[in-house]
Amino acid sequence: MRIRIPVVILSLAVASSVYAAPAPVHLDKRGWVTDKLRDLFSKALKSLECGACVTALVGAKDIAILNKSWVLDAASSLCTEFKLFPSDVCSGLVYSQGPVILDSLLAANLLSGDGKYFCFQALGVCPATGVTSGSPTFPKPKPANAVAPAHSGNQIDVLHLSDWHVDDHYVVGSEGDCNRPMCCRNYADSPLTPKRAASTWGDYKCDSPIKLGQDLLKYVPNVANVNFTILTGDIPPHDIWLQNKDSVVIVEDVAYSTMKSGLSSKVYPTVGNHEAGPPDLFPTKASGGDISWLYSSLADDWSRWLPADAVNSVKNYGAYTVSPTPGFRIISLNTNFCYTKNFYLYGHTKDYDPNGEIQWLITQLQAAEDAGERVWIISHVGPSMTDCTQNWSALYYQVIQRYSPHVVAEQFFGHTHRDEFALYYGPGAKSTQNAISTGWIGPSVTPFTDLNPGFRVYKVDTKSWNVFDAQTYVADLDQAATWDAAGGSPNWHLEYSARQAYGAYVPIAETAPLSASWWHNVTTVFEKNDAAFQKYWTYRGKSANRQPACAAGSACPAETICNLRAGKSSDACGTTPFLSKREAEDNEDDVTGLHSMYKRSEARPWNKKLCGLSVEI
Ligand SMILES: [Zn+2]
Ligand SMILES: [Zn+2]
Repeated sequence: MRIRIPVVILSLAVASSVYAAPAPVHLDKRGWVTDKLRDLFSKALKSLECGACVTALVGAKDIAILNKSWVLDAASSLCTEFKLFPSDVCSGLVYSQGPVILDSLLAANLLSGDGKYFCFQALGVCPATGVTSGSPTFPKPKPANAVAPAHSGNQIDVLHLSDWHVDDHYVVGSEGDCNRPMCCRNYADSPLTPKRAASTWGDYKCDSPIKLGQDLLKYVPNVANVNFTILTGDIPPHDIWLQNKDSVVIVEDVAYSTMKSGLSSKVYPTVGNHEAGPPDLFPTKASGGDISWLYSSLADDWSRWLPADAVNSVKNYGAYTVSPTPGFRIISLNTNFCYTKNFYLYGHTKDYDPNGEIQWLITQLQAAEDAGERVWIISHVGPSMTDCTQNWSALYYQVIQRYSPHVVAEQFFGHTHRDEFALYYGPGAKSTQNAISTGWIGPSVTPFTDLNPGFRVYKVDTKSWNVFDAQTYVADLDQAATWDAAGGSPNWHLEYSARQAYGAYVPIAETAPLSASWWHNVTTVFEKNDAAFQKYWTYRGKSANRQPACAAGSACPAETICNLRAGKSSDACGTTPFLSKREAEDNEDDVTGLHSMYKRSEARPWNKKLCGLSVEI
């Protein structure tokens, strides 16, 4: 899930800004820097101007040249002083993420575009800097008659699990509504009597207790004969201020063992932003830094299901390809190289294809085209998401255009925790005829935050490898207390079948898959029929009914539809209901101007003209 906390802390560090000369030697330099940062932080965030942001970065860099720890110490103490989080959370975040941010600032050319790029992609303060990554190189032109194969009529069940986020320190009965980014643990200052006691099965502000995932796996055989599972990333919990190498390796080892014992067929995983410790930070060849420990650990965990060549590939790249059956291939991408909270990316902003992953993807797809294979691409952060850098996303989009619909059958992502999708189009208009591929964004297992836990079963044709139905299952977590009282377990049940729910609006032949063209027509119905759109909105929040309203007549429905048609992030409209919700719920004084920043960032200057909407937004 995209989580804003690191950006807030980053802001603390970078808004430390103004170009400041070093303190006179006879003064306490640390105190002087903190005073300066306090003043500048408040001013920079309240002005929310692009120029002020870039100036802030330059100032932070100049102080960091003198002494990085001055900036980090000041950011940590100001985070606590402004009551953004308890002091342990502040210091944990600043000292784990901050050094990478500062190293990237030191490597960047802030006044030649890198500053604006950072302020746009990481903070949403500057206008879009534009896509400059150009076109990838393809070994062969697209075949003239590039069409998808016929369907066999035989279908199998494929399980999609995403965002497992198990919390191995979950404490039943602990505070479920705390002041930290994640609750349901015994923190040092936890109240003796919780306002909302954590249930045995989870809470809306917490990650999954171990029992929740185990119970889910126990339930799955009741509704699906699983041929194989795709797992789109994010195993560790959201204790992002505590996560390190050791903590994530332990929790990942345990989770993959749980899946191995709970699922009798193979699991094909991919690497999420939370897999790293600290989270989100995946060094590139250009940035330097070592994450081989993670790739080696994942390779060990995944060797339960992957052949030796794929395991070796994971060790080297965190990505792999595997052919579960002749004619069909899964490519598991490491999209942390486009994640906007991967602060390693900002020191080398012209490195448009970090670690050559796009080029690697092209090589795999070309081999698949030559061999007549059908391909699924799985990854964690979806290239459609606004927290995937626009330059990387635009390259990826061209790859999908080149190899769809004849090679790429479907794409599957996670990360948002919500039940969503994203459409890809050929060159030209966003139309029914031109829709060429679907990105399925799977619901999370974790209820974090304000969502019901869930999973999905796809009905898949064994020749075309297209999806004929997507059946999403959830448990109503608001009933957890009654399950506890009765000594029962979660009420897993079918939330909806996509074919039935949306087929009511856009009829579909029994022999036809849920194609991108069909989904495009569904979004066209959403434009005109609010009841249909509201159905989507409820499913998007996994029927927890705890997401903010998306009322007809507001900008929200149109922006949401725009995003469904935005397979590349530069086309997205940037609806951020999470921020609206926070704005509405948070009654604290706006000491730092942060709330204003959140509000402002909702009006990001995304390109709304590219949505293909028939209504103005
Ligand atoms: Zn997640
Ligand atoms: Zn994620």
